[in-house]
Amino acid sequence: MSSVRISFLGAAGEVTGSSYMLEMEGVRVLVDCGMYQGQNSDGRNEGMFSYSPSDVDAVVLTHAHIDHSGRLPLLVRRGFKGDIWTTDPTIELVAVLLRDTVKLMAEEAEWRSRKNARKGLPPVKPAYDERDVEETLKRFRYIRYDERAEIARNVGLRVRDAGHIVGSAITELWFKTGGDEIKIVFSGDLGPKDVVVERPYTLIEEADYVIIESTYGDREHKSLEDTRAEFRSGLAAAIKSRGKILIPTFAVDRAQRVLYEIKRLQADPTFPKMPRIFFDSPMGEKATLIYEKYSSLLSREIQDAARTGSTPFNPDGMSFTSSPEESRSINNESEAIVLAGSGMCSGGRIVHHLKHNLWNENCNVFFVGYQANGTLGRRLVNGERHLRIAGEDIVVNAKLHTLGGFSAHGDRADLLEWASNFRKSASFFVTHGEPKSAEALAAGIRQLGYEAATPTAGAVYDLSGKELAFAREERGESILERADRDAVLELLNEITSETESIRESIADRGDFRALTPLLESSRLILQSVKNIK
Ligand SMILES: [Zn+2]
Ligand SMILES: [Zn+2]
Repeated sequence: MSSVRISFLGAAGEVTGSSYMLEMEGVRVLVDCGMYQGQNSDGRNEGMFSYSPSDVDAVVLTHAHIDHSGRLPLLVRRGFKGDIWTTDPTIELVAVLLRDTVKLMAEEAEWRSRKNARKGLPPVKPAYDERDVEETLKRFRYIRYDERAEIARNVGLRVRDAGHIVGSAITELWFKTGGDEIKIVFSGDLGPKDVVVERPYTLIEEADYVIIESTYGDREHKSLEDTRAEFRSGLAAAIKSRGKILIPTFAVDRAQRVLYEIKRLQADPTFPKMPRIFFDSPMGEKATLIYEKYSSLLSREIQDAARTGSTPFNPDGMSFTSSPEESRSINNESEAIVLAGSGMCSGGRIVHHLKHNLWNENCNVFFVGYQANGTLGRRLVNGERHLRIAGEDIVVNAKLHTLGGFSAHGDRADLLEWASNFRKSASFFVTHGEPKSAEALAAGIRQLGYEAATPTAGAVYDLSGKELAFAREERGESILERADRDAVLELLNEITSETESIRESIADRGDFRALTPLLESSRLILQSVKNIK
């Protein structure tokens, strides 16, 4: 009896860190290799993989967002040699995003190293560098929507439009063993049914197993009409209060959607005159150009706008700011609309705009995307009034608006509608959501007459063909455990090389007194490792 084993490596019981391993008869396919963001992400992104990257035959990437792609350079750095399959726009977007991420990581490592130096602690190394990113980009192979390709021995792949961001894909995988074939479908991130910029998600009927996202598994967005009305009245009032209007946004997709909505409002003669608009993101211009280049993969509305020559994503009075000086000079404008990342305010230029303006009651902030637990954006949305931002205590007097309807994710109704299209023999795994939303969506899917499970992080299931009503979660000699030993060996190598480099630099050091207690505690820790059975 053929069987495919699936390991839920990330985005299980949480939204970020998307990654799944599929194994069949020595063939290993990884779907996504994303970064963790927000709460509990410290140290996890640099951490060990629970498998050997060199044993992975192929990777499939559902879309460019960093929580799906951000650890790919680390995978390549640690030995992955295969192809990374995805769509053309994703290849272009992921190049922009990874090159930006690696810059941010280097800056962050430098900042932490300076902090550490003052405490007598060792410098921080970023998880990967620019060379790793370039090596990763060389491994990408494109696949067109709706075409089928063989990506590993007996493994077929087809990608379908997911309507989430340009290039986003629902992933269909076929695993063939003997006379048997098991079909596994990954929803990736699914767009809302009422799409504006993207095309609607593809409906699929056939699957043995479906892995479905649940970001908004317990919530319904306002309708498109209501969302637009809410944005219109909120923005009009904000313009009248003559302060800064801040829109934290992902540089990819949310920004283009907001720019398009602003442009629509500008076409309305009854709408108040807008102040200058700054798209304060070095990535913003590049991402917007990619959206324009692939407009044939976007909604009819956008294609029509693009055909008539008016670029859908450049409202009047908008400028891109790329240098940090230009970004800082926005502080001198008393009135302006500012779009900046990161979308969840966990870093990037939006942080300094928030720091400079949140105290001001004339400032308005519009949240247009998902805010993960623990991020600055989530804390603001939750109503915290006193925050420490970039080293300063800030009181929040600004008006905050949350527009769930602008999300690039489908809501509960959209997700259930997509799920209900599968034949009743399909079984579901619900992932990519906080436990409450994942459970709520799973309950909804069960009500539709399917089986549904909500795997925990690290769970391994044996998908034993169609006869079994549902896969068993098993914790036998899983890929996780097999790879754990490799991870430990890799760590030991790193410890040895750290020791060597300290030994080599010993002649240049005068701070032996500071070194001794640190080294002594390292020795004690290593001894206690030795004593663990
Ligand atoms: Zn996404
Ligand atoms: Zn996602």
